[in-house]
Amino acid sequence: MFRSVLCPVDPAERGPEAPALTNAKRMVEASGGKLTLLAVIPDTPGMAAEYLPADFRETQWKDAEATLKDLAQSLGLPAGTVATKVRYGRPYHEILEEAVEAKSDLIVMASHRPSLSTYLIGSNAAHVVRHAKCSVMVLR
Ligand code: ADP
Repeated sequence: MFRSVLCPVDPAERGPEAPALTNAKRMVEASGGKLTLLAVIPDTPGMAAEYLPADFRETQWKDAEATLKDLAQSLGLPAGTVATKVRYGRPYHEILEEAVEAKSDLIVMASHRPSLSTYLIGSNAAHVVRHAKCSVMVLR
């Protein structure tokens, strides 16, 4: 039974996370464990950062946090069994870091964006599958 489940959600691409969330929810309900929803805000390339408003990063953070909180609430899990977390960096790198820090025993994620249907597996999902120290469920 998986007791610490990590579900990464791309804050800029809503939709593909739905089946992952449904399955992650079932896992923690069955085990009495805990679910963490994680959004990663990708680093802004140095050049582009100069042209962005000063509070751009902060706004991105708040938006991502609000998105995760909405998703967490919509799951209807008991209080204290779902947490949200926002990190900056490369998505696959931060997903792997968070899985170690949160001692996750399962990562549940979508294989790729539906719009990129020619790919069998997206680059973040591929890296996570290859390098995670815990089990990974990839939903298609
Ligand atoms: P694609 O290249 O088709 O977008 P990805 O591998 O990036 O495929 O996406 C697959 C999954 O990776 C997403 O459903 C999500 O679980 C995770 N993911 C991608 N980007 C992020 C992000 N910025 N924050 C959190 N999770 C992400």
